Amino acid sequence: MPPIPGSGLAKGLAVTLRTMTKKTVTEQYPDVQPELPPRTRGVIGLFEENCTVCMLCARECPDWCIYIDSHKETVPAAAPGGRERSRNVLDRFAIDFSLCMYCGICIEVCPFDALFWSPEFEYAETDIRELTHERDKLRDWMWTVPAPPALDPAAEEPKELAAARKAAEKLAAAQEAPAAPGPASGPAPEGDA
Ligand code: SF4
Ligand code: SF4
Repeated sequence: MPPIPGSGLAKGLAVTLRTMTKKTVTEQYPDVQPELPPRTRGVIGLFEENCTVCMLCARECPDWCIYIDSHKETVPAAAPGGRERSRNVLDRFAIDFSLCMYCGICIEVCPFDALFWSPEFEYAETDIRELTHERDKLRDWMWTVPAPPALDPAAEEPKELAAARKAAEKLAAAQEAPAAPGPASGPAPEGDA
């Protein structure tokens, strides 16, 4: 059966009318920033104070895109007669985001909570070589990491918080305690006059 003249136009107008009445889903990025879920995998932030250079993240990364350099430093004994200790000092920590597949394994395996997901995603580059980001940049991203969700009210207090709270209470108690009395002042020795 031949098509009715104008039926195509009517169908098109019907689609237009249907769409006009629906809620818009297009995000006006970059004029309006998107609202991202809290656990968005945007980029990896490094909290380098926690990093002990154990190399676990670099070894477990399936893409071998974490580059770490370090050197050893000798720490003198804390007390006379004590033993010197050696510790690793971080020289370089970089991630090549042109290779990274955002699997999160490095973050999961880090035993010292030094790596975190940040929702930051605006780090596109026109040159692929500039997607290797060094420790300063990774550290800057650390400050964009959202705070962890609140604990369940019935959950046990984390041991780090409990230790910090006890230390703060002890310090406050020491500051509030009255100063210890000095040596008692007795009568002036005879013969001083
Ligand atoms: S997210 Fe995965 S691929 Fe990316 S650096 Fe970490 S372990 Fe490697
Ligand atoms: S696993 Fe954690 S502590 Fe070990 S080198 Fe990587 S970031 Fe540092």
